[in-house]
Amino acid sequence: MSDEYLSNLVLAGIPERHRAFIREKLQPVTLKFRQVLYEPGRTIGYVYFPIDCLISLLTTVDKRRSLEVGMVGREGMAGMPFILGVGKSGVRAIVQGGGKALRMSAACFLREFNRNPPLQQALYRYTFALLTQISQTAACNRFHEADARLARWLLMTRDRVGAPEFFLTQEFLSHMLGLRREAVSLAAGVLKRRGIIYYRRGRLRILNEKELESSSCMCYRAVQEIYRRTQG
Ligand SMILES: [Zn+2]
Repeated sequence: MSDEYLSNLVLAGIPERHRAFIREKLQPVTLKFRQVLYEPGRTIGYVYFPIDCLISLLTTVDKRRSLEVGMVGREGMAGMPFILGVGKSGVRAIVQGGGKALRMSAACFLREFNRNPPLQQALYRYTFALLTQISQTAACNRFHEADARLARWLLMTRDRVGAPEFFLTQEFLSHMLGLRREAVSLAAGVLKRRGIIYYRRGRLRILNEKELESSSCMCYRAVQEIYRRTQG
C-alpha cells in the first residue's frame, strides 16, 4: 500500500512503529455515493478510515425520515461503537461523498485496538471530538437558521472531502439538515445570490470560502476547534 493511508488523520497520528500491523491489515476500497455501511441495531462488519470520501451518520425516526447527526471524513473512523465495546451500530451510516477509504474487519480491528495503546489514545481523542460534533449538531438543528446551518454543513463537508466542490441533491440535503426541500432551496438560493456558492444539476462549488465562514453559525468554529485540539 502506498503512503496514501497517511491522508487519514487518525492513522497519520499513530507513531510509525505502531502502524505496521494496522497498515498490513487495511484493505483499500472505493465507496459509492449512497452506499449504506451500517444500519441501526445491526452488527458492524468493518471499520472504515476515509481517505477522500465522506460518511454521514443518520438517526432514523421512522421508515421515511432520518436526520444527519454527524459526519466522518479523513479526520476519523467509522465504527466508533467498537471503541466503546459495542459491536452493533446505533445509527445508519451512508456514504455522502463517494471516494477512497481503508477498511479492516471488525474482528481484526478489535484485536489490534486491544493491544495498541497509541491507536487507543488516537481513537479516544477522536471519539470525544465526534461526540462533541454530534451534540453541537443537535443544538444547531434546534436553534440556528437554515442558511447558517447550510453554510456550516458545507464547510464541514469541504474540510472532510478536502475539496471545495462536491455532488449533492436538494433531496439529500433535506435529509442531512432536517429541512423540507423548499427550505433547502431557499437557503441555497440566499448563498447563491450572494455569490458564495455555485449550484447546478447536483454539483455544488464553494466560490467564496471566507464569506461562507461568516455566513455559518458558530457551530462550525466550535467543532473545528475541538478537532484541532484533539488531533494532538
Ligand atoms: Zn449552528
